[in-house]
Amino acid sequence: MGASGWTLTLKNLFLPVFCQTCGLRLLTDENRFFCPTCWEASRRIDRPFCTVCGRPQVVAVGMGGGPNFPCGPCSQRDPNAAIRRVFGPAIYGDAIGEAIRLFKFHGKRRLADPLAEVMIEFAEQEMEVESYTRIVPVPLYRVRERERGFNQALLLARAIGQTFPKASLAGSLYRIRPTQVQSRLKSADARRKNVLGAFAVSSADAFRGDRVLLIDDVVTTGGTVTECARVLREAGAESVDVFAAALSEVPFE
Ligand SMILES: [Zn+2]
Ligand SMILES: [Zn+2]
Repeated sequence: MGASGWTLTLKNLFLPVFCQTCGLRLLTDENRFFCPTCWEASRRIDRPFCTVCGRPQVVAVGMGGGPNFPCGPCSQRDPNAAIRRVFGPAIYGDAIGEAIRLFKFHGKRRLADPLAEVMIEFAEQEMEVESYTRIVPVPLYRVRERERGFNQALLLARAIGQTFPKASLAGSLYRIRPTQVQSRLKSADARRKNVLGAFAVSSADAFRGDRVLLIDDVVTTGGTVTECARVLREAGAESVDVFAAALSEVPFE
């Protein structure tokens, strides 16, 4: 046992840690919040998934693993929409969903690493990692970021950055006014209004010619990332794809 192993043993003696889902006592330092069984049981998104919204396709048992294709609603979508594609390795729920809630709302910033690991594994298998020139985390309003102490999207963007060798991390997208938590708003119209005009860039052509990968912790109806993408495209971005640690099952608006 190495020095860090002993440190963990000592820590465990006095401050034992338990799986947030099943209560099992954790004995390794890899994921300090969930046991491997619960973590692995979280629903992942495998082929085939939608080539636009990233949600898993409903396929007959045994028909999995085939090529990806657009889902019904996405095949009717405006081809000039601001977002080109959405990617996510997991369905928002189970241990991964709980991890995102603890990470974001309870300040457990060490969860960035296991979440990033799930994202990296997916990216290496399913994404054209060399095609992006910029990685952009969805920004928080500065007051919110100060209260929380960090921006969860930025921590994820930093942790996965190495996976996209031609992309640089860009912080030049800003949230210029406070917004409400999107999931607390009931209608699509209220969600659109909530984020409309909430984002800005440092200069009119800050993203000229860029192929942007926009990072968020979770994508639900897509209102926030759609508004970010609109601003990025206006600032010259050639394309905007979205990559989140998890996607909810609700349809993309
Ligand atoms: Zn567990
Ligand atoms: Zn779709």
